[in-house]
Amino acid sequence: MATGTLHIDRAALAANWKALDAMSAVETAAVVKANGYGLGIELVAETLAAAGARSFFVATAEEGARLRAALGHGPVIAVFSGHMAGDTALIRDHVLTPMLNSPEQWTRHAETLPGAPYGVQLDSGMNRLGFEPADWAPIAGEARPWCAISHLACADEPDHPMNARQLATFREMTDGLGLKRCFANTGGVLLGADYHFDMTRPGIGLYGGLPFEGARPVVRLDLPVIQVRDLAAGESVGYGNTWTAPGPTRIATVSGGYADGIIRAMSNKIRLWSGDVPCPLVGRVSMDLLTIDVTHLPEAPEALTLIGPHQTVDAVADAAGTIGYEILTSLGPRYRRAA
Ligand SMILES: *Cc1c(COP(=O)(O)O)cnc(C)c1O
Repeated sequence: MATGTLHIDRAALAANWKALDAMSAVETAAVVKANGYGLGIELVAETLAAAGARSFFVATAEEGARLRAALGHGPVIAVFSGHMAGDTALIRDHVLTPMLNSPEQWTRHAETLPGAPYGVQLDSGMNRLGFEPADWAPIAGEARPWCAISHLACADEPDHPMNARQLATFREMTDGLGLKRCFANTGGVLLGADYHFDMTRPGIGLYGGLPFEGARPVVRLDLPVIQVRDLAAGESVGYGNTWTAPGPTRIATVSGGYADGIIRAMSNKIRLWSGDVPCPLVGRVSMDLLTIDVTHLPEAPEALTLIGPHQTVDAVADAAGTIGYEILTSLGPRYRRAA
């Protein structure tokens, strides 16, 4: 079998949710958008529900429908994108809670599903999604949302003045209304009790990513070796001849490439691991293959590890010039997901 194996540590996932939950005195929801940050939404949601999560957030109604099938009746499934044209049947049939973002969505929801539950998303300064203060003011008094949320733009930078600014705006928009409120993503949970309100909604920290430094790693990615060959000094490897053997070299060709989320910018910049031994990736990342220098290993390995005990998701992200979120959500559909 030439597909890589993505091992997902369910116990670590549950432990991360519990650890983040223990950091606040309030309910902890779970953000499981983008297929559970790439890990597989069914597996993630079932694990977190068993750990105690009762409210889940996804990005789109389609994700919500898939999540409802996994979770069954009971848990709240809230949709960040709100109530878009064409979403009505999905929202009704799968009992989703759209986080209404605008007067247009407010009207659409009231007209198509009168009496159906909804939440609201308020823009406290990120200028991405949510009611602007001026649009919220006229309906704030009559709104009866399941929950009012807003999102922090700089939560992973605790000293950034934007955090306090957004907190003040969120308070101005919601104080005294008696609404259930939710403000904190992972970074927000770490900012402390002022940011916790009535519920928190971490995502990345559940999956072992920064800024939750205390997270347990959840993912391990092993890639099988397809072929091993010996090169003489001066022979080159891969597209564009970007790497040339300085001396006699043994190259392992591994199954996995940029089509699987192994970002091409990591070419010549990352290592894979054979147990405790690092082996440099040499040459360019191809669509389906990597070439790894294993000259120093006593025997040819059967598989090499990209993400694992010696190399976190965030370390891989650094090599690609990106963030852990992108590495996780790029993990391709070809991998076998094993829990
Ligand atoms: C993705 C997202 C979250 C989760 O953020 P993390 O940084 O992954 O914890 C929370 N709220 C909103 C609106 C989001 O889009």
